[in-house]
Amino acid sequence: MKDKINALDLFYKICEIPHPSSNTEKLKDFIISFALRQKCEVKSDSFGNIHLLKGKPKICLQAHYDMVLIGEKVEPIIKGDFITSKDSSLGADNGAALSAILYFSQLLDNFEAIITNDEEIGMIGANNLALKIQSKQILNLDSEDINQIVVGCAGGFDADIKLKPKFKKCKMKYFYELRCHNFSGGHSGIDINKNIPNAIVELVWAIYNIPCEIVSISGGEKRNSIPANARAIIATKKPLKYANDNSIKPTIKITKINKNYKKSFNKKVLKAIYSIHSGVYEMCDNSVISSLNISLINNKNIKMMIRANRKNLLFRQMESLKMRFKNIKISGLYDAWEREDSILLKNIEQVYRNQKIDYEIVEIHAGLECGILRAKCDEIVSIGPTISNPHSKAESMDLKSFNQFLEILEILISS
Ligand SMILES: [Zn+2]
Repeated sequence: MKDKINALDLFYKICEIPHPSSNTEKLKDFIISFALRQKCEVKSDSFGNIHLLKGKPKICLQAHYDMVLIGEKVEPIIKGDFITSKDSSLGADNGAALSAILYFSQLLDNFEAIITNDEEIGMIGANNLALKIQSKQILNLDSEDINQIVVGCAGGFDADIKLKPKFKKCKMKYFYELRCHNFSGGHSGIDINKNIPNAIVELVWAIYNIPCEIVSISGGEKRNSIPANARAIIATKKPLKYANDNSIKPTIKITKINKNYKKSFNKKVLKAIYSIHSGVYEMCDNSVISSLNISLINNKNIKMMIRANRKNLLFRQMESLKMRFKNIKISGLYDAWEREDSILLKNIEQVYRNQKIDYEIVEIHAGLECGILRAKCDEIVSIGPTISNPHSKAESMDLKSFNQFLEILEILISS
């Protein structure tokens, strides 16, 4: 054991090597040379995925080695029970798992790992994986709560509705800006059950209540986030008595614009939105299993993202949207990883019980690599150390959970 590097020191080494998504070459070289020194058979594919193999393992560990780098460079510091980075994201997502993989590659004679690339920019590695996995069981290490054993993730698709506004000469005299500004926003899957107001929905319903025409409308930030901002310019025949009076709708600011616009369109084009519920559709055991989020709008399009943890619910959402909207365009479909019982899950539960670590079995209402990798094995489950605020400068990892994570892995893969 003396000449082995411990997992935390390996994590520090990983932090020293820049590895933001699509710029991971240096870390790839480090992983490969490290694994070769441990006498692993090493293979990689053209998408930068890496496969490590020794002997005849039963479980293949899986992590991704790219990170979302917010800030300039990672400088890990320990603050009490946590590790964080001075002025950047930490990359414990998924560097902590990678350090565990490298650590165990030193210790075991029977060992397998698949380390995928560029997962944070659309699961590119998993989607294009061209390496053969020998074990029948895969243990994904990209979860972010030590007390959760993840057994399912959502599938999803994007839907686009064309608005086709007919701009006409504007005969209205008064113009106002309606603005939903700096709502809290959030992830369109994981945060969808938190009753976070959707800026586009609030804006559109405000417009519904005002006799007006629309000059322009825009809102939303990303395809997969709950909109935090939305804005419209409307035209009215009469002055709005509640302009600048925010007591009516505190979340929407109405400001008079002292300017004339020549063209506007009928607000009826927004009617598609009134019939769409943006939020949770179905729950199962406290987990969201079906949802829709209206995410982006402009004068021409409404974009939304639909997620479901059941293949049939995803299919139904798609069919019902197609029936309601003739001009809908569906894209980016990927399947759900449905919850299932497995020997691997039973074994993991046993280890948690033996180690006296609390756990719950959960399904994540977002995409995970497991959704794609499920097709490459008989059983797959996901765990990971507790990481708060990944993909931000506030990212931190709970060190106690990291040690528990190592203990769990050691028992699982050495047996
Ligand atoms: Zn990750």
